[in-house]
Amino acid sequence: MGKSKLIFATHNVYKLEEVKHILSDQLELLSLTDMHCYDEIPEEEDTLEGNARFKAKYIFNQFQLNCFSDDTGLEVDALGGAPGVHSARYASEEGHDDKANRTKLLKELQDKPNRKARFRTVVALWWNNIEYLFEGVVEGSILEEERGVNGFGYDSLFVPVGYEKTFAEMSEQEKNCISHRGLAIQKLSEFLEKQL
Ligand code: IMP
Repeated sequence: MGKSKLIFATHNVYKLEEVKHILSDQLELLSLTDMHCYDEIPEEEDTLEGNARFKAKYIFNQFQLNCFSDDTGLEVDALGGAPGVHSARYASEEGHDDKANRTKLLKELQDKPNRKARFRTVVALWWNNIEYLFEGVVEGSILEEERGVNGFGYDSLFVPVGYEKTFAEMSEQEKNCISHRGLAIQKLSEFLEKQL
């Protein structure tokens, strides 16, 4: 029998490789690039759960195959949970200007003593016509200046609780073991192991 197909609703090669390392070899993981799906899937919900669920449902409706999506946000306590679901587009509506996002975050946190924050990832899975949600959270704090060159997004500003290094000072492997997305994908993987 062939491997069970599972679509990961992303074009991000970095994420795809991370997930391939964790998921069972019994699954054939396919990206949206593999599916030739270049639709602009709206991310207009006001929660991470909402966005992840919308994206997974959209892809499930399109292909009628098992699939999952993820959505991540950085939640900063002193900013009432911002940038949260708006993390990618924090500095500008066009989005994905990581440097501008970090600069804005530092500005908003100027003179704020409470630097507590967390990364939260929600994974929405459609598996045999049923929807499941998984969550991964990593608590930490925001530095006053950037450190490290690895990773992306807010990595150079985020130090996880119990560590001295920022995510951007860790190797990919080190980060994946403790990261929000790593933890959510671990939970997804444990669930899928039981289904196969
Ligand atoms: P996405 O839902 O994975 O696309 O993440 C939304 C935004 O959150 C990204 O554009 C990044 O700014 C930020 N982000 C997500 N994951 C990470 C991470 O692992 N490190 C740092 N920033 C991240």
